[in-house]
This record gives sequence, structure tokens and C-alpha cells, in this order.
Amino acid sequence: MNEGFNVLVAGAGYAGAVAARALADRGKRVLVLERRPHIGGNAYDRLDGAGVLIHQYGPHIFHTNDRRVFDWLSRFTRWRDYEHRVVADLPDGKGGRMTFPVPFNLTSLETAYGPERGRALGDKLMAAYGAERKVTILELRQSEDPEIRQVADYVYEHVFVHYTMKQWGQTPEEIDPNTTARVPVFLSRDDRYFQDTYQGMPLEGYTPMFERMLDHPGITVELSTDALDRLDLSGEALKVDGAPFAGPVIYTGQADELFAFRFGPLPYRTLDFRFETLERDDFQGYGTVNYTVDRDYTRITEFKHLTGQVKPGVTTIVEEYSRAYTGAEGEIPYYAIINLDNNALYAKYKAEADKFPNLHLLGRLAEYKYYNMDAIAGRALDLAEKL
Ligand code: FAD
Ligand code: UDP
Repeated sequence: MNEGFNVLVAGAGYAGAVAARALADRGKRVLVLERRPHIGGNAYDRLDGAGVLIHQYGPHIFHTNDRRVFDWLSRFTRWRDYEHRVVADLPDGKGGRMTFPVPFNLTSLETAYGPERGRALGDKLMAAYGAERKVTILELRQSEDPEIRQVADYVYEHVFVHYTMKQWGQTPEEIDPNTTARVPVFLSRDDRYFQDTYQGMPLEGYTPMFERMLDHPGITVELSTDALDRLDLSGEALKVDGAPFAGPVIYTGQADELFAFRFGPLPYRTLDFRFETLERDDFQGYGTVNYTVDRDYTRITEFKHLTGQVKPGVTTIVEEYSRAYTGAEGEIPYYAIINLDNNALYAKYKAEADKFPNLHLLGRLAEYKYYNMDAIAGRALDLAEKL
């Protein structure tokens, strides 16, 4: 490795890029190795063939309550005010289709049950749990009140069970309860997907934000470069390019892959994205529509609504199809499958990593967690401070 560097970062997504910049700002010289031909990790965006700004790895909406993270990222981008709104699209039981807001809220209740009965049920739920409260579907299903239980069953059937089966191949009871808790039943008229204080989209996109973040005299980025070809963890001391390296190594890829899957592969879900460009101004009127009951895909996102790009006569959408990650060439592990067994397997890899005092696992893959962008950015800033 080039003698001039004192920190090595594997991966140029949120974890790697934020850590690299925060360390470079403190005077470190950082080498970033990224396997893909671009920076930004799964938040990478680009113009497609029709000139529409798309998110290549699925829709990314920034939201946080963490002022420190928001201010820090704001050094590298201005923001477009954007509050994500999602509707469920499902059969109405009469041969047609219906839509209502997700998270399921007081408005959804009135669509599902009619205005009068819906309002009465809403009042009942608010009396039981409190107005403006968020209640998880699993919590709601535990109610002993028959009417509340009936609503819970309705929401379970029409919002959660089929979508969750598509996304995870398992029911809401079988997966980590924190996952469905991300999208609670909301006893409110607020139909935003997120309630965070800071929400928006980088004004020119995520990739330009990452370009500015990594544009620092102390940072060198090598694209299309696999850190596993440069790192050697076979001995007692960590080596880079064949020579012992004592500086911090921040690894943001898969923990199992880092140790050649020696305890077996960590399970993940992957996604197939089907992009389509249509010759019209608008396809669905919303950033994202969730298909909560039928269809093979989980959701459709129309990027122009997210990005605010003005582009008459053309729009690009993406359908997301979820399936088990097999590790085949070109597949990307998008979601850790969090449960006791998998966490225990992960702990074995983490213990291996901990044998190297200068090796740090950071990020959604490396930590085997369901982290949003802001959480990763926060963890990267914390690590940089600690180092
Ligand atoms: P990644 O973005 O995966 O970056 C890791 C990088 O490391 C990759 O570029 C990879 O190529 C590279 N790498 C791996 N191994 C190596 C190696 N050996 N050598 C070199 N490079 C390597 N979060 C939100 O806050 N809001 C959203 O709306 C949102 N939507 C999402 C939608 C989808 C479909 C998905 C999958 C995730 C979404 N997220 C969202 C989560 C968000 O993508 C993550 O929080 C974030 O990308 C994590 O950053 P990271 O750096 O940990 O991982
Ligand atoms: N979920 C669901 N129906 C929906 C939306 C979400 O069942 O309409 C469940 C599903 O299990 C999903 C989880 O809630 O995986 C989290 O949803 P979120 O939209 O946060 O997922 P992400 O955007 O991270 O894929």
C-alpha cells in the first residue's frame, strides 16, 4: 500500500465516505477502496438513458432527528424539501382497487370502513392508546377488545402479512418485531411516511453529495477495487498489500465475506429492480405505492416525485422484487435477516474482527443491522471521533 496513507477504508457508501471525510478533516490521510465502479454505495443515484434521475439500488429518502448528522451532511449538499407519502394499493373486494395511506392512519381507517364507522373506530383506538400515538401491528393484535382486534386483523391482512411475505418470505410474527415497527399504525391524520424533524433529498442528488464529501486533499478513492485483494487477516497482525499496517482499517462490507465465510454465510435478502421509462408526465402521483396484498413486487417508486426533477413527457419507475440472497455473482445483499440464530452467527465474525485492534466493522453490512442512512452517518462520525 502507498506509504502515504494512515487510514484504510473499504467501501465508499455512507459508512465509508462519512468516516473517510471526518478523519481527513482531522488531518488523516485516507485511502478508500470501493469494489463498485462508483461511490455512494446503495444511495448512489444517476441519470438514466432518458435523463431521469434514478436511484440505482432502490428509493432513498433522507430523514433524521439527529441535528448533528443533518448539519454535517449539509456541508456537502443543499436539500430539496420533500416529505415522503406512500399509499397502499390493493383489491377493494368488489373487483376494483382501492388506496389508502401507509402507515395505516385515521384516514386509512375511514377508507377501509366508511366515514362513519371509520371515525367511530378511530375514536375507540385513540381512547385505548392515545391520539397521535403509534402502535405496532403486533401490539394491536394483542388487544382483547373484539372491535380493536377486528381492526388489527384487517390491517394485518391488508397491509402487513402479504407484503411481509413478499419482502421476507416470512410472516410478521416470524421476523424481527423492529422491522414491522418501522411502519406502525398511526392514530393521526398525518399521512407522512416519516415524522422526523429533518427530511429531504439532496438537491442535486446523492452522488454529487458524496463527490463533495470525498473531495479532500487527504482522501484518495480507488474504484473497482476489492479491499479483500489488498487486506490480509491470516496472521496475527493485519497486513495491507503484504506489509503490516498499524493504522485504522474501517471495513464496511460483509463481515462473513471478510473472513472467507469460515463459519458459514450470513443470510440476507436481495432485491431485483425492474426499471421502466414511460412516455408520460406522471405514472402514479406518488413517490412510492406499496402493493400490500397482490402483485409479485412489493412496491413501485416513481423517482420524479422524490427528486422533484421537472421533465415533461417522460418518467421512470422501478418495481422491487425481493428474494433470498444466494451469493451468486452480481447479487447484492440488501437486508440482513435479523434473528437470534443469525445474530449469533454474526457474533462469531465480530469476535474474529475484534482480534485485530485496528480493524473496525462499520455499516449496514459490516454490522449486520437494519440501519437507515442517518444512523450509519452518525456511527461513522462517532467512530471518527473515537479514532
Ligand atoms: P452500503 O451503501 O452497502 O455501502 C457499502 C459499500 O462497500 C458498497 O459500495 C460496496 O460495494 C462496498 N464494499 C463491500 N465490500 C467491499 C470490499 N471488499 N472492497 C471494497 N468495497 C466493498 N435508508 C434511509 O435512510 N432512507 C431510505 O429511504 C432508504 N431506503 C433504502 C432502500 C433500499 C432498497 C435499501 C436496500 C436500503 C435503503 N436504505 C434507506 C438504507 C441505506 O441504503 C443504508 O443505510 C446505507 O446505504 C448504508 O450505508 P453503508 O455504507 O453501510 O452500506
Ligand atoms: N411493511 C408492510 N407493509 C407495508 C410497509 C411495510 O408489511 O406496506 C412491513 C414489511 O415487513 C417491511 C417493513 O414493514 O419489510 C419495513 O418497511 P419499510 O418501508 O421501512 O422497509 P424498507 O423501506 O426498509 O424496505
